[in-house]
Amino acid sequence: TQFSELGLAEPVLRALAHEGYDVPTPIQAQSIPSLLQGKDLLGIAQTGTGKTAAFALPILDRLSKSEGRTPKGSCRVLVLAPTRELAAQIGDSFRAYGRFLNVRVAVVVGGVAPGPQIKAIVPGVEVLVATPGRLLDHVDSGKLSLSHVDVVVLDEADHMLDLGFLPPIKRIVKMLPKKRQNLFFSATMPGQIGQLAGDMLSDPVKVSV
Ligand code: AMP
Repeated sequence: TQFSELGLAEPVLRALAHEGYDVPTPIQAQSIPSLLQGKDLLGIAQTGTGKTAAFALPILDRLSKSEGRTPKGSCRVLVLAPTRELAAQIGDSFRAYGRFLNVRVAVVVGGVAPGPQIKAIVPGVEVLVATPGRLLDHVDSGKLSLSHVDVVVLDEADHMLDLGFLPPIKRIVKMLPKKRQNLFFSATMPGQIGQLAGDMLSDPVKVSV
């Protein structure tokens, strides 16, 4: 399979050429067509498999086709990650693969001053990558609304639960619109993760690499 056969929009393909990617990795080849159809996904995959592009590319494709502006103080796509480092990497990936699109990306994590994050959120961002605690700080202070999210990604769900993020994740998910696309990635599937996936996902495509 080539990237050009997966049905991605031209500016996304151009960014892949710019990155020097020729061939999709297995998780990309198996996930991208279903994600482009708007399906939910349960991905069992480790870091290093190309899972970031597996979700970022179809999301950027969708944003390239969506009309209207993202309302102020809100986001269209919410990616939750367990650590600052992973959130920063995911943000960098969205910026790289979205370089030929008009997509605003913000990263919201703990341990750094909230001011610049608020400044980024206020005009609205298409893609917000966040760790759960700081995300809730911005929601609770009224700076961020989650009522325009139409795609949510939970990355490294098992790691999130290990870090005690189940309660904030549940709070966040409750604030999201009912009608949305859900992407759920985990390296392992212990009972609690299976339960959270079952609660969040609706008739998901399952991909294991
Ligand atoms: P990830 O599993 O998302 O952390 O990605 C692992 C690494 O593989 C990252 O450095 C990506 O830039 C790279 N990568 C992802 N997809 C591809 C691809 N299709 N071809 C070549 N490199 C890739």
